[in-house]
Order: sequence, then C-alpha cells, then structure tokens
Amino acid sequence: GAAGAGGGGATKKSRRGSFFFGPVELEDHESSSTSIVDGIEGCIGNTPLIKIRSLSEATGCTILAKAEFLNGAGNSPKDRVALNMIEVAEEQGLLTPGQGDTIYEGTVGSTGISIAALARAKGYRAHICMPNDQSAEKSNLLHHLGATVERVPVAPITSPNHFVNLARTRAREHTAASAAGKSVSKGFFANQFESSANYEAHIKTTGPEIFSQTGGRIDAFVAGAGTGGTIAGVAKFLKEDRHLMDLRVVLADPQGSGLYNKVKHGVMYSPTEREGTRRRQQVDSIVEGIGINRITENFEAGRGLVDDAVRVTDEQACRMARWLAEHDGIFVGSSSSVNCVAAVVTALSLPEGSRVVTLLCDSGTRHLSKFWKQIADMGLEEEEENDDIVQKQPPQ
Ligand code: PMP
Repeated sequence: GAAGAGGGGATKKSRRGSFFFGPVELEDHESSSTSIVDGIEGCIGNTPLIKIRSLSEATGCTILAKAEFLNGAGNSPKDRVALNMIEVAEEQGLLTPGQGDTIYEGTVGSTGISIAALARAKGYRAHICMPNDQSAEKSNLLHHLGATVERVPVAPITSPNHFVNLARTRAREHTAASAAGKSVSKGFFANQFESSANYEAHIKTTGPEIFSQTGGRIDAFVAGAGTGGTIAGVAKFLKEDRHLMDLRVVLADPQGSGLYNKVKHGVMYSPTEREGTRRRQQVDSIVEGIGINRITENFEAGRGLVDDAVRVTDEQACRMARWLAEHDGIFVGSSSSVNCVAAVVTALSLPEGSRVVTLLCDSGTRHLSKFWKQIADMGLEEEEENDDIVQKQPPQ
C-alpha cells in the first residue's frame, strides 16, 4: 500500500520533471495570486492608456494613446481580433483543437502573427498569405511561430493571387482534400476584412476599456483603418452603446489610401485619382497595416460614425516616430505614427484642454528594416545635435 503509493508518486514526479531539455528540479508552488493569467490568451487586452506628455504639452490638449503593442501574444491590437475570430469559429464548430485543423488568413502581418501564436497555444496549425512588400521582421516572426507562410507579389483584390483570395482558396483546398481523404481536419478562413468577429472584438474589449479608462471623458477618437475593425468597433461602442454623441471619430489615413476621400467626399476616388489605375489597387506608402483602396465589411460597419479624416504623408509619419522616440522614449511602428500625427491635427482643431484618444498599434522593433531604416536614411536621427538651435514642434 504505502510502498506502492510512494512508487507511484516517484514515477509521476520524474515524468513531470523530465522535459525535452533534460530533468529539472520541480517544487510545487501553489499560488492564489490573482496576477497569474492562464496562458498567452490571458495577456490580451487591458492595455494601459498612456498620456503622451510631449504631444499634450505642444497641443494644449491631453493626448492619450492605448498601448496596443503590449498585447502579449502577437503584440498588436490584432490579438483581440484573432482571439475573438478563433473563439467564434470554435463555438460554430468550424474549428476543433488537436485534430489538425488549420487557420488560413490573408494579412499584412499583424493578424497573422496573432493567429500563429494563438494557433500554437490552442492546438491548431496556421497558414498565412501575405504580400511580399511587408517588413521581413513580420514574416520571420511567423516562421518562428511555426506558421507556414506564402509571400505573394502585390496584386489587385480582383486577382485570385491577391493575398486575401489566396488564403480563402487554400482553406477551400484543405476542406476539399479532407473530404476526399475522409479526414476530419478542417480548413478555416478567418477573413478579418469581412468577418464581424473583427469589429465585435473591439466592441467587447477596446471600446469598453477606453470608456472606463477615461471615465467617458473623451472628445475625439483617432485611428487608422486596415480592415476598419478598430475604428468601427470602438466608434460603435462609444457612440451607440455609451451614447457619446459629441465624440469626434477621426480616421487617420496614410497617403495614397482612398478612405480619406470616402470620409471627406463620400467617394473613394477623386476625378484626378481615377486616372491612375495603379493607385486604385495599391496604397503607395511606407506605412504598413493601415490605408486601403476598397470598402470592407468592417469599415462599412462604422458607416455614419466616422466624422472626419486626416491624411498623413510618409514624411510626417517618419518625423512623428522620431519625435516620440526622442521626446517620450516611445518606440513605435508606422501606423502608430500616422495615428499620432492625426491626433495632433485633431487636437489643434479642438478647444484647449480637450481629450484625444488614439492607439499605438505596434512596436518599432517590428519595423527596423524598412520604416526605421527610412527614418535613419532621412537623417532625422542626426538632428538631435542641433536641438538648441532648432525650435521644435511636433509634426502635423
Ligand atoms: N496597425 C497595424 C500595425 C495593423 O497591422 C493594422 C491592421 N492591419 C492596423 C493598425 C489597423 O487596424 P484595423 O484592421 O482594425 O483597421
């Protein structure tokens, strides 16, 4: 009895203690701490709202930025979206863990990284289709997380080789092959551009967090749109659910994106832009993740809720990124910089003391090879030496 129990205990202990890198000494620490989260999913959401001091001082307003790069799975707001899309698919029986189900997605990177991390945590495979003009950091990260990656040449959305269409096709191929081979594994096309689980993630989490962090005292919300999920979901929550009808929702749009015209003039293309067919397909900007030349279901979900738009040039975005690093120690990527330029422009159009909320979407470490290289090539980092002779103003 006693010997058997002791033997069983020893066996159990040695199995637990032998990991792939060799045996380890284990001690049982039973903790009741509420700061422990269950897996990487527990590191998503509840991000801090940072007061950006330099921009607040320069504008006479309070500029607050939600630190979305602190989401702990894929380090961007797309963690919220990926988690919700996967959970909704599980509820609908479209994904079942542990049987070889594969999540397919077309993404410029951030959503793919969140899906790849969560796929690992939840027992799925991930197959990511992305354009080949995005920073190498993002595709490298996808490889390290075990996703299969197809990098495809930039193609119009009407082409079957556009990254989104290719991901849809790959999911169908998986499902067809399973049916032919009588396998149970499923292919699931996450479809962030059109899926309502995208903007609903922001209705459920980002919007309520902003409301409680500001106590509802917020004059403007500024955000760029890739899929449009963030701006639509947050606007819906704050305006429709919390009835902040005086809140100004402002789209931050990089150069070359058609959304600015859509918000300002109701059409994607001005007569002059109509002449350039290339422009209609591709957003010609160094900025990654925001700016698009078609209306997605997620952007459409915010119809009537976006009040204004600010167009931001690549040069302004580069200068803002440099400004934030130099004055605030905040090191961000290109879409965050576009958001901050538009937040400054918005703040200057509002009465002094107004409160403007925006997002810092991802870290500059994900953009070293492209965006931050451009900033260095522009010579912006050498300007610091002239600090005392240059009257500095944040880019606007
Ligand atoms: N910033 C980054 C870095 C992104 O990757 C994205 C999404 N592609 C966005 C902002 C825009 O968010 P949304 O898709 O919700 O419009």
